[in-house]
Amino acid sequence: MADTTSQFDAVVVGAGFSGMYMLKALRDRLGLKVRVCEAGETIGGTWYWNRYPGARCDSDSYIYCFTWDKQLLQEWEWSERYPEQPEILRYLEHVAQRHDLKRDIQFDTRVTGAEFDEVTRLWRVRTDTGGEVTASFLIAAVGSLSDTNLPPFKGLNQFKGKWCHTSRFPQGGIDFTGKRVAVVGTGATAVQAIPEIAQQAKQLTVFQRTANYCVPARNGKVDPELVKARKAAYEGVVERIKDSFFGFEHYFIPKPVLATTPEEREREFDRMWDAGGFAFWLANYQDMFFDQKANDLCADYIKRKIRKTVKDPVVAEKLIPKGYAYGTKRQPLDTNYYETFNKDNVLLVDANTDGGIEEITATGIRAGGKEYEFDIIVFATGFDAMTGPLKALNLKGRGGRTLDRQWAGGPHTYLGVAVAGFPNLFTITGPQSPSVLSNMPVSIEQHVEWITDCIEHMRKTGKTTIEATPEAQDQWVAHVNEIVNQTLMTGANSWYMSANIAGKPRAFLPYLGPEGVGGYRRKCDEIAANGYQGFALA
Ligand code: FAD
Ligand code: NAP
Repeated sequence: MADTTSQFDAVVVGAGFSGMYMLKALRDRLGLKVRVCEAGETIGGTWYWNRYPGARCDSDSYIYCFTWDKQLLQEWEWSERYPEQPEILRYLEHVAQRHDLKRDIQFDTRVTGAEFDEVTRLWRVRTDTGGEVTASFLIAAVGSLSDTNLPPFKGLNQFKGKWCHTSRFPQGGIDFTGKRVAVVGTGATAVQAIPEIAQQAKQLTVFQRTANYCVPARNGKVDPELVKARKAAYEGVVERIKDSFFGFEHYFIPKPVLATTPEEREREFDRMWDAGGFAFWLANYQDMFFDQKANDLCADYIKRKIRKTVKDPVVAEKLIPKGYAYGTKRQPLDTNYYETFNKDNVLLVDANTDGGIEEITATGIRAGGKEYEFDIIVFATGFDAMTGPLKALNLKGRGGRTLDRQWAGGPHTYLGVAVAGFPNLFTITGPQSPSVLSNMPVSIEQHVEWITDCIEHMRKTGKTTIEATPEAQDQWVAHVNEIVNQTLMTGANSWYMSANIAGKPRAFLPYLGPEGVGGYRRKCDEIAANGYQGFALA
C-alpha cells in the first residue's frame, strides 16, 4: 500500500468474505474512501487461516459464494459439492482481483485499538504497525470464528515435539507420515481433519471431551445437469436462500416428529441421511429443537448409525453423544469419520471414560493418569467465537466505555450490528444476529447491504452519527434470549452458549429468530424504513 493518507470515510477491519464485500459496496457504490486492515498476508479470512488437512466448506458450493456478482455466479465452476480450502481461497483471490480490492487493503496489519473521539466524531484506529488513522465509520468484519482458542493446557511449553492449532496451520502443511500424532478436540474441524491425518500418521490418538453427532457430508462431483439448471435459475435460488430460515434451500418437514409413525419417520430420516449435508439438521422435524422426546427420536437414529459403523462396541459407546440434545451444537459433516475409528492405528481417548487431559509433557500428553507419547499435537480446540475478535479490538466508545466491561455478562447488541455507546460502529454478523446459525455469505451480504444503505441514508440526510439506543438494545437482548429459552439449545455446553471456554460468561451468542434469516432481514429492513427505529441519528 503506497497510500499514506490517514483520514478515511470508513475503516473496515478484516478482509474475509465480509470485509471484501464491505469494501466493494462502500467504495464502488457510495464512492467512499475506505481502508481495510487485515492481520493476514492476503484476503480470505477463514479460508486463509484454516489450512488443516480436510478443510472444506460444509455449505454447498453453489450457495457458499457471493451472490452480488451475478456474472461470476455464471462463470465460476466449483469442482465439488464442498470444495477444499485452497479452492475457496482461489475463488476469493479471483474476486479480489476482478474488483481490484487489494489496492485498499493493508495486509499484515492488526488493529490493536480504536477510540471514538466525541469532539471530532471520528474513530481513531491504531494498528500493530504503529500507524493511526481516523474514520467516520468503523466496521468490524473480524469474523465470528477467527479468534483461536488454545486452552491453557499445563505444560505446553515443555513439549519437545511439534504442535499447532488447526486455524493457524502452517503454509505448506505438516507431513504426518510415520509420526505419532494427537488430535485434541472432536468438533467440526477435527471431524474433517481426523480421517485425513489417520491416513498418513503411524499412530493417531484422538482426545475427545464431548462426543458429537456427525452426519455424512456426501461430497463429490455435482451432476453437470444440476449445475446447469441451478445456473439457469440462480435468481430464484438467491431469493429463496435470502428468505429461508438458515440461508440454505432447506425447509423443515411440516409436521411434528411426534405425530409420525415409526415407518414414516424412518423413511424421512433415511432420505435426509442419504442426501447428506445439513438436511438432517436443518430440514428435519422442527419439534426436535423444542421437545426432548422429539429430539430423542432423531438422535436415536444417529446413535444407531454410529453403533452400526464402529466395529468395537466399547469405542462406539464412547462416540455416542450423551447429555445434550441433538442439533444444539454445530452439526459436523463427516467423510469416513466414524469408519476411521475402525483403523488399527487410531485410538480414542475419551475424557468421560478414560480421563481428561491433565498435562502436556515433554514427550506427549498425560490424560487420566496415563502417558501418551507424540511427535506432533494438533489442537482442534476451536475459537473464542463471536465476542472474542470484537473484544480484541480494544474499542473505546463514549466516555471511554469498553466492550469488556459492557459485555461482562455476555454480549449486548442491537440487531447484532450495533452496540449502544459506540457510535458509527457496525459489526458484520455480530453477536445476536443470525450469523453462525446460517449459511454465512447470506447473512454477510445482508449486513453489508444494510450498513451501506444506512450510511447512504446518513449522507443524504446530513447525519454524522448513528448509535443504538440502550432501550432498543435491551429489548433486542431480551428478545434474543426469550426465543432461545424456548428451545433445547440452552442445555448444551456448546460454543453457541459460550461454554467452550472456561470463564466465558454463559450466553447464547447468535440469534435464532422465529422466522430465521428471512424474518431477521425483514425486521432490519422495517427498522430502516421507519427511520432507523431504535437508533439515535444526529
Ligand atoms: P473471517 O473469514 O473470519 O475473516 C475475518 C478476518 O478479519 C480474518 O482474516 C482476520 O485475520 C481479520 N481480523 C480479525 N481481527 C482483526 C484485527 N484486529 N485486525 C486486523 N484483522 C483482523 N460458514 C458457512 O456458512 N459455511 C461453511 O461451510 C463454513 N465453513 C467453515 C469452515 C471453517 C474451518 C471455519 C473456521 C468456518 C467456516 N464457516 C462456514 C464460517 C466462516 O467463518 C464464514 O463462512 C466466513 O468465511 C466468514 O467471513 P468473515 O469475513 O466474516 O470472517
Ligand atoms: P469446536 O466446535 O469448538 O470444537 C472444539 C473441540 O475441542 C471440541 O471437541 C471441544 O470439546 C474441544 N476442546 C475445547 N477445549 C478443550 C479443552 N480445554 N480440553 C479438551 N478438549 C477441548 O471448534 P471447531 O471444530 O474448530 O469448529 C468451530 C466452528 O467452526 C464450527 O462449529 C463451525 O461453525 C466452523 N467450522 C466449519 C467447518 C465447515 O463448515 N466446513 C469446518 C470446521 C469448522 P467440547 O465439545 O467439550 O467443548
